[in-house]
Amino acid sequence: MREELQATLDTIREEGLYKNEREIGGAQGRAVRLGDREVLNFCANNYLGLADDPRIVAAARDALDTWGFGMASVRFICGTQTQHVELERRIAAFVGTEAAILYPSCFDANGGLFEVLLDEQDAVISDELNHASIIDGIRLCKARRLRYRNRDLADLEAQLVAARDARRRLVVTDGVFSMDGYLAPLDQICDLAEKHDALVVVDDSHAVGFIGPHGAGTPDLFGVRDRVDIVTGTLGKALGGASGGFVAGPQEVVDLLRQRSRPYLFSNTVSPAVVAASHAALDLVAEGGEERAMLERSTKRFRRLMSEAGFDVLEGDHPIVPIMFGDARTAASVAESMLELGVYVVAFSYPVVPRERARIRVQVSAAHTDDDIDRCVAAFVESRQRVTGG
Ligand SMILES: *Cc1c(COP(=O)(O)O)cnc(C)c1O
Repeated sequence: MREELQATLDTIREEGLYKNEREIGGAQGRAVRLGDREVLNFCANNYLGLADDPRIVAAARDALDTWGFGMASVRFICGTQTQHVELERRIAAFVGTEAAILYPSCFDANGGLFEVLLDEQDAVISDELNHASIIDGIRLCKARRLRYRNRDLADLEAQLVAARDARRRLVVTDGVFSMDGYLAPLDQICDLAEKHDALVVVDDSHAVGFIGPHGAGTPDLFGVRDRVDIVTGTLGKALGGASGGFVAGPQEVVDLLRQRSRPYLFSNTVSPAVVAASHAALDLVAEGGEERAMLERSTKRFRRLMSEAGFDVLEGDHPIVPIMFGDARTAASVAESMLELGVYVVAFSYPVVPRERARIRVQVSAAHTDDDIDRCVAAFVESRQRVTGG
């Protein structure tokens, strides 16, 4: 068997799909230590810069004294602290639902959602570019599965019509698509869902904490907080970046998930320090935070400077900023050169994105200074010169 596995590994390498992990020799942040060098980091989901924020770190440290290190239990046995329940209430209020339930991760939240709500009589209608955890969660339920083309409302409506005989129709979409930084058109998705009597589920992992007037995510931005039925999200990106996920929705949905959802029932509680730090992260967001304003400003600035420098930037407002190169080798070489110049970015190519649509996905953070942004743009210009001569 070892030889067979080695052959598979060789194939992955030959296809250029092998993922090498770079070891960071310190904290996650605007800059990170790689070997003996410090490089600017433009590839983390650290949107609000909270991953190494002293206030978040202090909240986690204090929690170790107050709440201990581990709970050594699932929630329903002896793994529920007062602060877990308070965090759930708070997340519900934040995203605008009746209730919320914590999971070890958003992967688990999506993995444990559909099976509880849907069976053979139902249909789930999913955007083709939805996150792997949604795809897996759907695989675990017995509902009929329909897919629509990315953000394509006409195709969504066709699938809704095709599912009209189902008991329940559930439309599920990422709030933000991670390879493009594009937002799902939630207002129009809600219109169609209402027209065809369907539920709407949004996975808002790349938006909670910073998108929308209150930072509550894409339903907040589109003004449809009261029309989206269920929101799933992560604490592992903007909100401190440690771990943890949630499902927020109607009381009965959350209550039933507590009874039946397998990743919730059979996996350890989110650790006390992470829960306390998540409270602190939500405090910062609620305070109306300079972090969010800074993120927005830096994102605009980076997008403008890159366009002015003649790069093909996918349009949008999200801090996910794809710089398009088309050719996979060019994108990879530019990313390599960027690292030599002290800026850490990652190239993505087929099969993660369509062929001939290779790109470098830059992620801006509130922790970046104007100077960091300038250095990133300058490194792109220099690397383009090195790789393409132009
Ligand atoms: C990152 C991400 C997840 C997974 O979140 P974790 O909490 O790290 O498991 C799920 N869905 C989407 C859309 C994501 O971007």
